[in-house]
Amino acid sequence: MTTRVLVLGDGTGGLVAANLLAKEARRRKVALQIKLIGNSPMHTYQPGMLFLPFQKPGYRTLADIQRETAQFVGAGVHYLVERITAIDTQARTVTTDKGSHEYDWLVLSLGCRTVLDAVDGLEQHWGKRAFGFYTPDSALRLAQALQEFKGGDLLIDVAEMPIKCPVAPIEFACLLDEFLTERGLRGKTNLTLVTPLTGAFTKPICNEMLTDMLAGKNVSVVPNASLASVTEKAIGCPDGKQVPYDMLVTIPPHEGSELIDEAGLGDGLGFGFTDKQTLKAVKAERVFLLGDNTNVPTSKAGSVAHFQAEVVVHNLLREIDGKPALPLADGHANCFIETGFGKAILIDFNYDIQPVPGRFPLPVLGPMSLLKETRTNHLGKLAFKPIYWNMLLPGRQIPLVGSRMSTAGKRMDVLQRH
Ligand SMILES: Cc1cc2nc3c(=O)[nH]c(=O)nc-3n(C[C@H](O)[C@H](O)[C@H](O)COP(=O)(O)OP(=O)(O)OC[C@H]3O[C@@H](n4cnc5c(N)ncnc54)[C@H](O)[C@@H]3O)c2cc1C
Repeated sequence: MTTRVLVLGDGTGGLVAANLLAKEARRRKVALQIKLIGNSPMHTYQPGMLFLPFQKPGYRTLADIQRETAQFVGAGVHYLVERITAIDTQARTVTTDKGSHEYDWLVLSLGCRTVLDAVDGLEQHWGKRAFGFYTPDSALRLAQALQEFKGGDLLIDVAEMPIKCPVAPIEFACLLDEFLTERGLRGKTNLTLVTPLTGAFTKPICNEMLTDMLAGKNVSVVPNASLASVTEKAIGCPDGKQVPYDMLVTIPPHEGSELIDEAGLGDGLGFGFTDKQTLKAVKAERVFLLGDNTNVPTSKAGSVAHFQAEVVVHNLLREIDGKPALPLADGHANCFIETGFGKAILIDFNYDIQPVPGRFPLPVLGPMSLLKETRTNHLGKLAFKPIYWNMLLPGRQIPLVGSRMSTAGKRMDVLQRH
């Protein structure tokens, strides 16, 4: 008998999960019908949106960071470009603008999105006084605005958490520092990161390091300040604090998928209640979640979606085989932090272990260094793009990097001092 699996969302997590599932089912000779449904026939390499505003080589146009989704759909996966309109976990049916699909198991990877109208005045000033880089179009608009910038108070603002890739605002601050220095504008510009976090980042050791690094680049940090309003000249925080600006670059509030809430699976902001270890939906059977639309306490990152896809595939095949899902997901995240002037930091962590210094992926040999600014890490960040297109999306194993975090090469002794 053929088991029907529907994978919803044709972004990073959906593509990887569908491709891995098809490969694994073939290997184990399990008869599956896998449908991947999504409405992004062009796939965006989202980490590339960080570089678009600075018009870095290889990141100048949308063609540099987008490819046709269909070319990454592997054998055994039936890809349907349809807009999903409803999920019914009782009837095990998904409705789209083109019809309906029944399933035996469901995988949700519907991502999350920025919501401009969640902040007073933001939509009104968007693209004129307030800019962003979390969508391809806004990143290109920002590139144009940066060309016209002549100096003044430039704010990089994180409206509220959670956001995708929480290190991206820090990277953006560093790249701005480089960009303005090269254009002779750094001395005329005050750079400030306004964040709802207690410092530049969340995890204590990394937060300390990144906050110090930003101080070394003369980037001020205004902590504990979420975004309540935007006017022509200042942003406002919920406690009434005003921070003036000449140019604002903000990461707007994020929400998950309304479909998830409407199906009774979500937290009211579109993030699905997810068992953080098995990646099963908490509120329905035969449903798994991965990527940005989960509510698990780790970064919303492509690396995380990739690691989670391996767990989802493993557990889904176990359930089809009549066995319980295993608590295999550990929140593993692996993120490069571009720090400007050809250097980057690498962090590797999970639910329980915060980023520590060390070598990655091989102990001693590296070649990458953890929690340290190096040229090799920057080359690693650049290499992520071809790896993403050629290995990650097609569901190929990335050598030496497992879905569970390894402590090999990590200075675990540092944790005792924190
Ligand atoms: C500026 C920026 C920089 C980043 N840098 C990094 C980085 O350096 N490293 C890293 O690991 N991650 C990075 N990320 C994060 C990473 O891109 C995301 O975490 C990752 O893409 C999440 O995958 P996903 O499958 O959960 O969601 P997505 O990849 O966003 O996919 C969601 C899919 O669902 C589809 N969908 C949603 N609703 C519907 C519907 N109703 N009908 C049909 N289809 C629907 C969408 O069309 C989309 O294709 C960055 C993100 C940004 C914005």
